[in-house]
Amino acid sequence: MSGMDLVRALARRKALGLGIGFAALILVDVTQLYIPRLIKFAVDDLTYGRADAHRLLLIAGGVLVLALVMAALRMVWRPLLMGFSREVERQLRSELFDHLQRMHLGYLDDNPPGELMARATNDLNNIRMATGIGLVAAVDGTFMGLAAIAFMIYISPILALLAILPMPAIVILTRQQSRHFHSRYTKVQEAFSAMTEQVREVISGARLIKTYALADSEERRLEVSARGYLKANLNLARIMAMFFPLMVFFTNLSLAVVVGAGGPLAVFGQITPGDFVAFTAYLGMLTWPMMALGWVVSLMQRARASLERVSEVLLAQPAVQDADHPARLPDRPDLGVEVRALTYRYPGAASDTLSRVGLAAPAGQLTALVGPIGSGKSTLLRLLGRLYEPPRGSVFVEGLDVRDLRQRDLRSQVVQVPQEAFLFSDSLAHNLALGRPGASEEEMWAALEAAELAPEVRELPRGLATELGERAHTLSGGQRQRLCLARALLLNPAVLVLDDPLSAVDTGTETRILANLARLRSGRTTLVVSHRLASVAFASHIYVLDRGQVVEQGDHRSLMALQGMYHDLFAEQALLAELGDG
Ligand code: ATP
Repeated sequence: MSGMDLVRALARRKALGLGIGFAALILVDVTQLYIPRLIKFAVDDLTYGRADAHRLLLIAGGVLVLALVMAALRMVWRPLLMGFSREVERQLRSELFDHLQRMHLGYLDDNPPGELMARATNDLNNIRMATGIGLVAAVDGTFMGLAAIAFMIYISPILALLAILPMPAIVILTRQQSRHFHSRYTKVQEAFSAMTEQVREVISGARLIKTYALADSEERRLEVSARGYLKANLNLARIMAMFFPLMVFFTNLSLAVVVGAGGPLAVFGQITPGDFVAFTAYLGMLTWPMMALGWVVSLMQRARASLERVSEVLLAQPAVQDADHPARLPDRPDLGVEVRALTYRYPGAASDTLSRVGLAAPAGQLTALVGPIGSGKSTLLRLLGRLYEPPRGSVFVEGLDVRDLRQRDLRSQVVQVPQEAFLFSDSLAHNLALGRPGASEEEMWAALEAAELAPEVRELPRGLATELGERAHTLSGGQRQRLCLARALLLNPAVLVLDDPLSAVDTGTETRILANLARLRSGRTTLVVSHRLASVAFASHIYVLDRGQVVEQGDHRSLMALQGMYHDLFAEQALLAELGDG
């Protein structure tokens, strides 16, 4: 559904509330338009000596009643009409997030987070403004403007014509200025976010800045961005300083025309002094609608562009889609994972990242995948989870082509632990039970035991309830990695895929954890990528990947006997470890 369809559907659903809101809005205008009529009576009574305390009190009472009615009606339209725009924003935002969750990973490569963030913030903001205050200003301005002009014509058509002459200048000027205003306002926002980003970097990178004695240069950088922010603000202030006096000038120009021409008319008795006062009051009421018109036009243009940008995301089709009749994974998996002659090239890439890769990770065994940096290990794992789309007939789980499986089923059976340990700033327990919110404490502890993290969590004063804080600073790198592993173990998946998730854990602990995994669940398929060959030497089968191809395979002993790439890498790492130990 496009953004526009969503707004329309919501408007249909909220039609009654919107109708009441707009009716109240117009009633406020009607009430407001009656106040100058009452003032006219007061002025005329005073001029012609008809005024007495009783009559004036009656008129004053009338003005008070109208003011109360207006206040009450404002309380009716505000929540209804502004509430609508908030609802539009909320629904578009949740559609946007839902849709992004369903998109394949490649979409995020093409649309960087900053770009998507802009759509979820600035663009939604523009749409909210247009469907809220913009719509109100359009209806209110049009009605008020036409009604004020009608009352003016009613009093004196000639005077009305003279007074309205300078008005189009206000519309044109506002339109022009609001465009400038918007571009300068955007610059202020950009300068502000650049500055806050720098402040954030300085605070979170405090240790690095101290270590490398960068305080002075960082201070200079901050000074530059603070000056940029100040300059952007001054630019904006300058335009505001020009705009409002100009508006007042044009309004006064109309007033001068009215006084110049209306005074004599009143003197010659064509209109009463009361009419003259009422006329100037209506004229005053006309400035806002004229400004509103200019402002609303540019607001709507901006919102339309924003709505298109949001729709672009909403209408993008995920490249990875579920089959029409998805196959069902068996309840008791026993075949494991198989990759057959898999060749893969990233969309837009110049060459293949994987070429004719064949691999089998049988159930109940721990299979390892090793190879130099950039050889394609992570790519293979991503294709296995269909985070990117593999060609049909190349990746099989339990004998079923992953392209025939429902993505949700696949991901509940094949759980991946990625290289980066991502944790939310929430409690340790919440992070641990992310995929299984109902998990018991006992199950959580068992998962922590398997990930060799339980003793350390027990030492924490608040245990499982420990708050991890922003970017989980409370935990070390290795602890964060083990927590992510425990999170995957809690799901007890049929296939566990580990993409070097223990790089920050010492070799001894890594080996112990992997041994735990092999021991804990018979029947589970485990596929491990590790940079440390020693940690996976016990694997049932090891595949060596180089530049997208399987160059060697076998168990540790047979691979060593080959005296090839595995042997050399292993010997090199063993040597480095010894040097490190010495
Ligand atoms: P490491 O050991 O550093 O994790 P790896 O063996 O896992 O490396 P991959 O991350 O699979 O290697 O990367 C293999 C190749 O694919 C690299 O040349 C990389 O530049 C390229 N590549 C990775 N991701 C993408 C992407 N999203 N789009 C295009 N090319 C990519």
